[in-house]
Amino acid sequence: MKFISQHKNLKGKTVLLRADFDDPHQGGRLLDDYRIRMSTETIKFLHQRGAKVIVVSKTGRPDGFDVSESLMPEARRLADLLNKKLVVVKDRLPEYDLNHIIFFPGDIREQKNIDLIKKVHPKDLVVLENIRFYQEEQNLDRKFAKSLASIADLYVDDAFAMAHRNEVTTAVLPELLPGFAGLRLEKEIKALDKLLTSRTHPFLVLMGGAKISDKVGAIKSLGRHADKILIGGGPANLFLLAKGYEIGKSICEKDQLKLAKELWRNFKDKLILPVDVLVAKPDFSDPHFVGVDQVKKDQAIFDIGPKTILEFAMQIKTAKKMVWNGPMGHYEIKNFSHGTFAIAELFASKCQRNCYGVAGGGDSVSALTRAKVLDQIDFVSTGGGAMLDYLAGEKLPALEALEHSK
Ligand code: ADP
Ligand code: MG
Repeated sequence: MKFISQHKNLKGKTVLLRADFDDPHQGGRLLDDYRIRMSTETIKFLHQRGAKVIVVSKTGRPDGFDVSESLMPEARRLADLLNKKLVVVKDRLPEYDLNHIIFFPGDIREQKNIDLIKKVHPKDLVVLENIRFYQEEQNLDRKFAKSLASIADLYVDDAFAMAHRNEVTTAVLPELLPGFAGLRLEKEIKALDKLLTSRTHPFLVLMGGAKISDKVGAIKSLGRHADKILIGGGPANLFLLAKGYEIGKSICEKDQLKLAKELWRNFKDKLILPVDVLVAKPDFSDPHFVGVDQVKKDQAIFDIGPKTILEFAMQIKTAKKMVWNGPMGHYEIKNFSHGTFAIAELFASKCQRNCYGVAGGGDSVSALTRAKVLDQIDFVSTGGGAMLDYLAGEKLPALEALEHSK
C-alpha cells in the first residue's frame, strides 16, 4: 500500500479525497465531530503541499436526495475547524481565489457540474454533497466512477470506518486513479497492527453495544488470542439467555441464540458475563439493581450492575493490552449510563499506565467523549465495524483496492 505521507510532489495535483465526516447528527445538527476532526490532518497536509483537494464523503443512510441528510453541516464544521469561510456554489464560482471551502450541492452526474469543479482555483478546497445521495455509489456504477475520477490526478483514502464497504468512492476509485492511504488511515492501520502483533498479556477484549451479529467475527478471532472477554450490553443479554436466564424485554438478537451457545462452548473459560444488572420497565420506570437470576418477564436490562463493574475493574487492572467496542448499557439515558462511564474511566486510567488500549465505534467514541476521557485512550479508532473486521483478520474491500492500486 502507498501512503500519501511518502508522496514527494503534490504541488499542482488534484486529489480526490475520500474523507469520513460521518459523525452522529440529528435534524441537521452535529452531535459529535470526532471523525471530522480526525480528517483535518490529511486535508491540511494536502493543501499545504499545494494540491487541490476535492473531498467526498457520506453521512447517514439517505435514500436518494434528502436535504435533511445534506453534508453541509459537516462542511461548515470543517470550515470552522480550518478557520476558513464556507461558500456554497451552485453554478458560479467566486471571482477570486478566496482560500475558502466551496460546498457543491449540485448533482455530479451532470457534466456541467463536473466541469465547474474542474475550474475551481487550486487554493480553494471543495466538498461535494453527500455521496450516498447517488445510488450509483453503492451500485458500483462504472460510468459514475469514471466521471468522478476524471476530476483528479490522485485518489487518497482516509475513511477507515468505510473500509469494509465495497462502494465507488472506497473500492472503485483506487482502480481508476493512483491510490494512497491518507494520514489518518495510515495511523489506523499502524495502531491496529500494533495491537495485533504485540504479544503482550493479559489481553482483554471488552464487548458491548447493540448487536452481537456485527461482532461475532471479532469475538471468534480475538477470542483465540485474548485472555478474557468481558461482555456487556446487548451481547451480554444474549449470552444470559443462552445460559437459561430470564431476560424479559431486554434488547437481544434471539435469532443468534445458536451462535451464542457455540461461542459459549468454545470460549467458556474466557467469557465474563455480568453477575448483576440494572433493570427497569420498558418505559424506563422503576430502575433497580438485581442479580442476573432475578430479572422479571416485564423488565428489561439497561446497564451492568455494581458487582459486575467491580469484577470488570479487577480484570482491567491486570490487563496489559485492551480493545473495547460497544457501550455496556443504554448509555444515552443518564440513569443507564453509569456502567459505561465507569468502564470508560477505568479503561482510560489503565491506558495512562502500563497498558496499550484501543477503543472504537461511533457510540463508544461518543460515550468516551461524554465521560471526558477520550484524549486519555492510547488509540481511538474512527471505525466500529471496520475496526472489528480488521482485527478479525478479514479482508476489507477498500484496503484491498488500495493494495492493488497502480
Ligand atoms: P458502537 O457504535 O460503539 O459500535 P453499537 O452501535 O454496537 O456501538 O451499540 C450502541 C448502542 O447499544 C447504543 O445505542 C446503546 O444504547 C445500545 N445498548 C447497549 N446496551 C443496551 C441495553 N442493555 N439496552 C438497550 N440498548 C443498549
Ligand atoms: Mg453505533
